[in-house]
Amino acid sequence: MSENIMRTIDLRGKNLSRAELLAAMPRAAMGTSEASDLVRPILDDVRERGAAALRDFGEKFDGVRPTNLRVPAEALQAAVETLDPEVRAAIEESVRRARAVAASQVPHDFHTDLADGARVSERWIPIQRVGLYVPGGKAVYPSSVIMNAVPAQAAGVESLAIATPPSKGDPDGLPNKTILATCAILGVDEVYAVGGAQAIAMFAYGAKGSEPQDGDVLCDPVDKITGPGNIFVATAKSLVSAFVGIDAVAGPTEIGIVADDSADPRLLAADLIGQAEHDELAGSVLFTDSVAVADAVQAELDARVPRTKHAERVRTSLSGSQSAIVLTDGLDQSIDAANAYAAEHLEIQTRDADAVVRRVKNAGAIFRGPYSPVPLGDYMSGSNHVLPTGGTARFAAGLGVHTFMKPVEVIEYDEEGLKAIAARINAFAVSEDLPAHGESVLTRFVADPYDKATL
Ligand code: NAD
Repeated sequence: MSENIMRTIDLRGKNLSRAELLAAMPRAAMGTSEASDLVRPILDDVRERGAAALRDFGEKFDGVRPTNLRVPAEALQAAVETLDPEVRAAIEESVRRARAVAASQVPHDFHTDLADGARVSERWIPIQRVGLYVPGGKAVYPSSVIMNAVPAQAAGVESLAIATPPSKGDPDGLPNKTILATCAILGVDEVYAVGGAQAIAMFAYGAKGSEPQDGDVLCDPVDKITGPGNIFVATAKSLVSAFVGIDAVAGPTEIGIVADDSADPRLLAADLIGQAEHDELAGSVLFTDSVAVADAVQAELDARVPRTKHAERVRTSLSGSQSAIVLTDGLDQSIDAANAYAAEHLEIQTRDADAVVRRVKNAGAIFRGPYSPVPLGDYMSGSNHVLPTGGTARFAAGLGVHTFMKPVEVIEYDEEGLKAIAARINAFAVSEDLPAHGESVLTRFVADPYDKATL
């Protein structure tokens, strides 16, 4: 008899409005407002005292006072040399695939000719300096180094800095060695042993040195900050976003799976558990119209959860209010509900999965079929794993080359092109009571644009 680890949301027979469907979706609370009170003084202190504050916060929150806040080149090199060969091969495979996809993602400049002498071009320009945050508190994420740095490099970003927490276990407070090795493999040499909100402050404001090894300036300010992190990191990013670019304020990770009666409950259960392993607040949601599949998944969870290493974390996550099995009337309702949920990761485990993929409107990334599970995307599919969470996939995209570039329009009209529409521009300007706008254009073609009689 199944104990039903996951709760059921039964949508069968209900004809819900859009608002009702959105409200019915399971969600984790973010709680950034309480964290703001904690994070603001950290930002102010780093702005004021630079490296001295960064060392103090390392000691306070990470349990170690880093000797070198900027990781020395020899430490990066040593990390590669001592890296386990199997891990190195996995990192290199991941980098190879990510680089291949990123190369295809680089947007192309284009131009539109509207008339003779009337052209608008669009140029994609890389952001000049970027700060990439790589989490390293509870777990370490060398894969996040790849997901951040590879698209930034493909975009042509000139200056790339990485920050990741110092490790308590290291006498000098150097960050995790696999993270350092991944930075070195990617050719990133500006790496800081700084974590949490203080790292975001360092990127946003820059930081002056406090010890001889820091130099006068430890870190220059960046133009954009990307990368996932915990509540302190997310809150700090949202607070500095008024004057520095950020990718998104990522919340707890989540999976949605659309499955019909052709899906294999073993795979569904394994994928829900894999996502739940991230975090007690991770959301795992199955959308299915098959009661038999739903029951079989609950039974599989019962059998599998106790056997996995992080069983307690997984159980807490799957039984939390942010996780559920959503029972539907049919595939159409499953797709509608999945679109309302807007999962960070959405797996499609149905017959004719391609047709279902085409009907997905909201998802951070779509994993089609039984051989495209989410962990493939976490590490090595070539796609990016930094994705919008908490329903923000309704309007936001995951990290990609575009994150590190901006389109700038170039207006290229010549005399003929402008003259042809000068009177129309003037008419528009006058209608907005901004006649000097019109006069600016007319000056190019008439002797006295202020004398309406000569126009
Ligand atoms: P983290 O690096 O984000 O945070 C660790 C830092 O938090 C520490 O260095 C410390 O400075 C700060 N901190 C800890 N306690 C504090 C306190 N009481 N007050 C102020 N600051 C404090 O690492 P983490 O905690 O392991 O969190 C990583 C998060 O990133 C997880 O939620 C994980 O799911 C997420 N993640 C997301 C993705 C993605 O692509 N969406 C990828 C990897 C990780």
